[in-house]
Amino acid sequence: MWNEVFIEHRKISPMCTGFISWDLSAKQQRGADWREKASCNECSYHSEMFNLYNEVVAKKHGRRTAAINLSIQVALNHIAISTTGLQKLFLGSNIPAPSTLSMQHSANVVSEIIEEYNKKDLAQKRKLLKEINIPRGDNPNIINIQADGMYNKPIYSGMGKTPFQPKRGRKFASQGG
Ligand SMILES: [Zn+2]
Repeated sequence: MWNEVFIEHRKISPMCTGFISWDLSAKQQRGADWREKASCNECSYHSEMFNLYNEVVAKKHGRRTAAINLSIQVALNHIAISTTGLQKLFLGSNIPAPSTLSMQHSANVVSEIIEEYNKKDLAQKRKLLKEINIPRGDNPNIINIQADGMYNKPIYSGMGKTPFQPKRGRKFASQGG
């Protein structure tokens, strides 16, 4: 990218001895990533806009999503912080945070895919459990389960109210076929 910019600048302003750098006034945020262009501090040269991210090839028309915005949402599904929690992490690190709207858009894209894969994964696990029940002499159509639910309260919500963990822990137990 920089080579392309330097060559273009030399062609347009061969005598210019200015420095090329990012034009910060033109930068555009795309969730957690950026589009930027370069400009010269002496002549009027400025480059085209560059996406500083890898794009995901979309099935639908419209702007292609930055891959990092989707991978962030996949990561958020594995931990107990929300969009707001991630924004706090960004802002605490002095990094401009993605907007709630853009993160919600990315979340909607990945949630359908995650649901689809979870269903496939659980179907495979159920099939395996049925197979295991047969040599055990158990009814293959009855599968006993126990699992922890995801915590959903930020830890500071109990500040000054309880010396204990304020999060709601859940445990599910079920028996069925
Ligand atoms: Zn120049």
